Amino acid sequence: MQTYNWPYKNELDITEMLSCDVLVLGGGLAGCYAAIAAARRGQSVILVEKGATARSGSAGTGFDHWESACTNPCSTVTPKEIAEAYVDEQCGYSNGIAHYIECREGYDRLLDLESFGGKVRDTDDEFKGAEFRDDETKLMFAYDYKNKFTLRVWGSTFKPALFKELLRLGVKVLDRTEATALLTTARNGKKHGAGACAMDVRTGKFYILRAKETILTMSRPARVWLFNPDMTGLCEFRPMQSIGSGHAMGYKAGIEFTMMEKSVKGEFSAAGRSFPPYGAGNNHNTWYAATMVDARGVEIPYVDRDGNELKTVSERYYPAPGQKFFLKGGVIDNPKYEYRGPETLDFEELMRRGYQLPFYADLSRMPDAERRVIWGMMVGEEGKTKIPILKNYTERGFDPQKHMLQSYGTGWQSANFLEQERQLFGAPGGIWHDWDLKTNIDGIYAAGDQLYASDCAGFACATGYYAGRKAAAAAKALNTLPDYNEAEAAAERERLLAPIRREDGMDWRELNMAISKAMQNYCGGVKCDALLHEGLDLLESFETEIVPQISCKNPHELMRAHEVFDILTVSKLILHACLSRKTSSEPLFFKRTDSTETDPERDCRFITVRQENGEVIYDSHPLYYFGDLETEYEKRNGDYIRTEQKGAYRK
Ligand SMILES: Cc1cc2nc3c(=O)[nH]c(=O)nc-3n(C[C@H](O)[C@H](O)[C@H](O)COP(=O)(O)OP(=O)(O)OC[C@H]3O[C@@H](n4cnc5c(N)ncnc54)[C@H](O)[C@@H]3O)c2cc1C
Repeated sequence: MQTYNWPYKNELDITEMLSCDVLVLGGGLAGCYAAIAAARRGQSVILVEKGATARSGSAGTGFDHWESACTNPCSTVTPKEIAEAYVDEQCGYSNGIAHYIECREGYDRLLDLESFGGKVRDTDDEFKGAEFRDDETKLMFAYDYKNKFTLRVWGSTFKPALFKELLRLGVKVLDRTEATALLTTARNGKKHGAGACAMDVRTGKFYILRAKETILTMSRPARVWLFNPDMTGLCEFRPMQSIGSGHAMGYKAGIEFTMMEKSVKGEFSAAGRSFPPYGAGNNHNTWYAATMVDARGVEIPYVDRDGNELKTVSERYYPAPGQKFFLKGGVIDNPKYEYRGPETLDFEELMRRGYQLPFYADLSRMPDAERRVIWGMMVGEEGKTKIPILKNYTERGFDPQKHMLQSYGTGWQSANFLEQERQLFGAPGGIWHDWDLKTNIDGIYAAGDQLYASDCAGFACATGYYAGRKAAAAAKALNTLPDYNEAEAAAERERLLAPIRREDGMDWRELNMAISKAMQNYCGGVKCDALLHEGLDLLESFETEIVPQISCKNPHELMRAHEVFDILTVSKLILHACLSRKTSSEPLFFKRTDSTETDPERDCRFITVRQENGEVIYDSHPLYYFGDLETEYEKRNGDYIRTEQKGAYRK
């Protein structure tokens, strides 16, 4: 290692062994909550986080709306109604179990957060009297003001509050430490998790972390199709360090994944081709329901699902006549009629009627509270907006009472991407699991954005906590730590250190670039077996020819190299998943040229993929396999309903 100007210790020769009951990998929202649940149950917990837990992860700098808080006192919908709607909205290709947990327990986690010091209510009365605020509880709502199940929250206060609570509960937090591989063993003739290997990303120290139960919460893959070596920070919507290591280590250990063939056309600041998230004038998500105008200043009409033009700003926040509720938020790609909410007129219709480009968001035409809540609270609390958008635009003179913000198309951020430039965005594939959020390997659980069809902060917090309590119960039932395989750990250490022992070689960026190009060429918007096989062959050649040439100068670059090795593993997983789906599927955005069929009944199933001794193994399960969500949940969570939903543990 060239240590001449490296500010940290050189610990490349050191191995430390630690053990615990429950090991949590990833310290985002899901990881923090998993650790809290296990620690509350008296289990010893280690949490491993590649960044700094107090501010790491997708929600590290904040987020502004909390979805599916169906049990809040103002909500008029039930967890069952919303969870079932989420599943139905995706034609069955959704995670009923996890969405039900989100809808049933999400608001409990918000109350926890409030007790840890997070800001959940308008306690400063900034928006007193506003239509979206309940003046009694001071809760504030987004999207559907009638049914009140999406809350506007001050997400920038959440991660520091969670971190403080972890320390208070005695969780051992290993910050700046990357988990790199899972350890497994055989127990009663079955594979069982035994912990993980990890590396300090500043000093290179190697860790063997032994645990009774392990929980994966390392978010979802990125930089698979889209990578720009000059703008690495702008390569993805999610943080730079979230690139799918959890998927890679899981796949290598034999964990089963589903829906990995689903990907969407690139969006959101991908590889610098779009705009900083939420930095362009639009009327989606955080900016819902901004007033939009065309180049002449003519207002663009909003219509309800039946095409009725809405006359007032207020009407944009209510269901259509005869509609109980509508869905909006991160998961919702293109809602079915039943769940469609108010929207601006279709782009084609606007062009037909003579509306002229470019369009602008014009907050000056909105009621004062609606303007202030979008520009100030939402754009400000939303991830990555406080400084890049709110502060910078304001300092440069942007005044939402006077100025308009240009919109560059019709979507959230609205840049046109080619079909081959794709992302795992919205509700993509991920880990397959049972009702305990346990993977197919005993002793290994998953939560948050690592689960299939995941999305959003409430989902991450609720599933994290749920996995933490199930893992804690399992750990209590085990008397001893599972064995681990010393040779496996030693081999992992050698794999990790190889690039830093190489004097001259290729840079991690070159490999990332090559993988992205391969995925664009062979796993783009249209797929067929011939292309997918060529892609796999090419990736295999990267594995054998390029990986052994990657070199780096310090532990930070070493971590970047490990990340790209993981991107390579994830890319192969995606190609295998694509190969397994033989016909096109609209809900999965999956288009084949070598099949004429789209969504034939026999193929409307979850296909799972895993690896065993180097061989890829497929299986499939019917959609809606999870049964009646409310009944199945209640069968398994009586204890929680009797105690914690009544406030046990909360200060
Ligand atoms: C810009 C932005 C805005 C968003 N806005 C909203 C919103 O308004 N409302 C909403 O509900 N949702 C929002 N989301 C989504 C929401 O933030 C995520 O769904 C949620 O935070 C996921 O939590 P998680 O714990 O699963 O993953 P993350 O929060 O991403 O946490 C994963 C953690 O794992 C760590 N990690 C990764 N690899 C390793 C490794 N190898 N070893 C150790 N640690 C590792 C990462 O550093 C990270 O801290 C937004 C996301 C982004 C990016």
